[in-house]
Amino acid sequence: MLLESQIVHSGVCTDSATGAISTPIYQTATFRHPSLGQSTGYDYSRTKNPTRQAVEQAIAALERGVAGFAFATGMATISTVLMLFQPGDHFVVSEDCYGGTYRVLDKIFSRMGFQVSYVDSSDTDALAAAVRPNTKALFVETPTNPLMKVVDLRNLVGLARMNKLLTIVDNTFLTPYLQRPLELGVDIVLHSGSKYLSGHNDVVCGLVVAREQELADKIAFLQNALGSILGPQDSWLLLRGMKTLALRMDKHNANAQRVAEWLVEHPKVEHVFYPGLAEHPGHTIQTGQSDGHGGMISFQVKRAEIAPRVLERVTMLRFAESLGGVESLITFPAVQTHADIPADIRERIGINDRLLRLSVGVEHPDDIIEDLSQALE
Ligand SMILES: *Cc1c(COP(=O)(O)O)cnc(C)c1O
Repeated sequence: MLLESQIVHSGVCTDSATGAISTPIYQTATFRHPSLGQSTGYDYSRTKNPTRQAVEQAIAALERGVAGFAFATGMATISTVLMLFQPGDHFVVSEDCYGGTYRVLDKIFSRMGFQVSYVDSSDTDALAAAVRPNTKALFVETPTNPLMKVVDLRNLVGLARMNKLLTIVDNTFLTPYLQRPLELGVDIVLHSGSKYLSGHNDVVCGLVVAREQELADKIAFLQNALGSILGPQDSWLLLRGMKTLALRMDKHNANAQRVAEWLVEHPKVEHVFYPGLAEHPGHTIQTGQSDGHGGMISFQVKRAEIAPRVLERVTMLRFAESLGGVESLITFPAVQTHADIPADIRERIGINDRLLRLSVGVEHPDDIIEDLSQALE
């Protein structure tokens, strides 16, 4: 089955007792045992729940891994994956990673003895130079958030294999419909499912998929032991959203391409960061490792006073954090999503008071452009 059809049928008809097309919400904490020493396969919902299992199997199949795991949020997912490691371990991480990833590493895992180097992960030489004897993993986003830098995943895997490191990719921005890092040899792919996978700005959740069984077993153990699982209701909402992933992503791609090309020509816009533009430095690499460039655009306006005015004046576009839903949203990364990154690092890498980030929704592109146009007036 091609990916597009597989997406529609993920988590469909999992209940053989009734033949229900939509996976039921198994709102139960525990399961009756047939007799002593026997189990239906389900004992207690922290360990395994049929609704959560449906979404976990769906994401594992789409990402081409051996097993998937669903968590309460993207951050719960990332925190659980980091628990695979030990005090004294060192990580190389994208310098413009999601602000919450930076915060959990810098404020919590550093207290537990984890060491982190933040580098421009679109620069393979910089990644290689950051590797130390105690480095255990390379953890990147591609494209990065919010500067849309593209990491060469094949080079990343090559570097990791040479140094016996794990590779972890946050695939939130492109989703398995557009990019499947495990197929390129990455070990662990994770998501904030709150974004494109669920797609409707109505649920927060996270997912992780492992390429090999040994890692999957370790993550299964951590998921049950730490317990930050996704509940059955939210698992169902995520499954419901995922069925239309292909349709939505095709529209996000097309809309973002049009909006990016329009922004490039705008006299008040200094620079547009979108890998779908031929002049983007990561365009060729992303074209070679993904099936589309997604719906996220960042752009720099020419003067600082323009940015807050745009946020106040948009009408259909909503000034809100988050991304990946059907509704177009606009954010101010320096103050919102990336406020936890120290000001000097933010300034150096370009997350400044002129940078706006746009999550291009699935509305008619003319309406998105018209709203931006009047807001930039
Ligand atoms: C939102 C986001 C996260 C965090 O996910 P939550 O579901 O909000 O906890 C992690 N990585 C990226 C790239 C994100 O956009």
